[in-house]
Amino acid sequence: SNLYYTRPMVELAKRLCQRTFAKKVFFCNSGAEANEGIIKAARKYGGDHYGPGRKVILCLENSFHGRTVTTLAATGQEVFHKHFFPFPAGFRFLKAGDLEGLRLALESPEVCGLLVELIQGEGGVNPLDADYVQTVAKLCADKDWLLLIDEVQTGVGRTGTLFAYQQFGVQPDVVSFAKGIAGGLPFGGFLTNEKCRAVLGPGDHGSTFGGNPMAAAAGCVVLDTMTPEFLEQVKAKGQYLRDGIAALNSPCVSGVRGMGLMIGVGVQGMTHRELKDKLMAAGLLTLTAGKDTLRLLPPLVISREEMDKGLAIMAQVMK
Ligand code: PLP
Repeated sequence: SNLYYTRPMVELAKRLCQRTFAKKVFFCNSGAEANEGIIKAARKYGGDHYGPGRKVILCLENSFHGRTVTTLAATGQEVFHKHFFPFPAGFRFLKAGDLEGLRLALESPEVCGLLVELIQGEGGVNPLDADYVQTVAKLCADKDWLLLIDEVQTGVGRTGTLFAYQQFGVQPDVVSFAKGIAGGLPFGGFLTNEKCRAVLGPGDHGSTFGGNPMAAAAGCVVLDTMTPEFLEQVKAKGQYLRDGIAALNSPCVSGVRGMGLMIGVGVQGMTHRELKDKLMAAGLLTLTAGKDTLRLLPPLVISREEMDKGLAIMAQVMK
């Protein structure tokens, strides 16, 4: 039972705290669950410090935070909403980069936190501007709103640092993670700073399988594998793929963007789904994102030969 600590759980929490801003870690089993936890943490913090009226979370248009009813409510894309109303209240949306909208929200006493992905993944592999993120972080600090960063997709080495916030020059209050953390086993969690360390106490939040020894042991292996050299390679491989795709000079490509091994390819002349299907038929698995983006999230251990094979398939399909 996870009512008791196990060694792998503690070892993983220690590794995460040593390599990030975190002072405390909560473990669960998926990204949506991790985001449910950070939403609860922000609301509890707002309520504890400023009273029950402070419960609203600001989110960005075009975001994606999961498929539970509450994380869908926090997701700024209509396409995921239809069929599933009604949603819980307490989420408001801003345009990424819109500081004026953010300044207007500063007047609102109900806000307790702001939730962002630093690179909107499902929304189209759109990195936020670092200056914007730093301004957001400063305004959050001024208002004592929690800066909640969803690193479910960008975290655990994906962008070439252990977490993407480490490349944006900000110190978050809370960060969620999942996906690669246990090398393919279901696992997730969130990190909190000193300020939020005590916000969720015994009984406030929990998960039967959260921090289970097998997945936590896998998580320790993943983190031990992610040495600084390994992370540098992720950056170099990402650059290699982005350069390789740009060099195809394909009429289907309108641009290439992303960080590390989180890559978005703008698609023109056909839909992103048509292109994904053609690539799959030729032996290459990709994803779509947003309205017109082909998304590549290759395994971080991908070899040069595998990248060249993928680029050759792209060259053949996209000529
Ligand atoms: N948040 C982000 C940014 C994601 O990309 C995802 C999944 O794609 C989630 C949350 C949800 O994670 P999960 O599918 O593990 O619930």
